Amino acid sequence: MNRRELLRATAGAAALLAVPAAARSQEKPKGFTLPKLPYPPEALEPSIDAETMTIHHDKHHQAYVDNLNKALADQPEWLAKPIEEVVANYKKLPEAIQPAVRNNGGGHLNHSWFWQMMAKPGTGGEPKGELLKAIEASFGSLDGFKKEFTNAALTQFGSGWAWLVVGKEKPLAVAKTANQDNPITEGGKAILGIDVWEHAYYLKYRNLRAKYIEAWFAVVNWNFVNELYAKK
Ligand code: MN
Repeated sequence: MNRRELLRATAGAAALLAVPAAARSQEKPKGFTLPKLPYPPEALEPSIDAETMTIHHDKHHQAYVDNLNKALADQPEWLAKPIEEVVANYKKLPEAIQPAVRNNGGGHLNHSWFWQMMAKPGTGGEPKGELLKAIEASFGSLDGFKKEFTNAALTQFGSGWAWLVVGKEKPLAVAKTANQDNPITEGGKAILGIDVWEHAYYLKYRNLRAKYIEAWFAVVNWNFVNELYAKK
């Protein structure tokens, strides 16, 4: 068989195997979508103003979702995976798309968690039960935790996140990551995180990241964090 005949035979086989276009478009995974905010954009005031929440969710988070879908356009099986799995395993993807998936997949995962980790002031409850015991065993007290977490959030140079993670030596630990990295890529499990990108606070707090972090503690959804720790 010469090259031309081989090509013709291969094309014929491919045509026989091909799913009709209509069925294919229905089966094609639609990819990742922007989750709704679990509260109205003004719900976290005065800690976080409505305009910041709207831009942060509708523009920044949406852009991570759109760019992730674009980066994975030729990887339909990855478009159907849970986002946690994508971020944990992005190093298995072709090298050319790893940076885009790392940044935008991380952005989608981190923000999807972040919205749920906050609640209207006065409604988020407090650490209790096993979580409170773990905080006290790891940081001495809730205040001790807040100090260490605040320090991590303040000293993350440039954009990134500070995290409360399930620990290796103690029950819990504080960590920080640059850009949109998530501890899950290194096998870590975060149960609380704060976004310290300037887009998370600059409209209201300008350059005063410390003021933002202090105010943010009033909107932590401890009820959600209690649940995450129980399921760890
Ligand atoms: Mn953000």
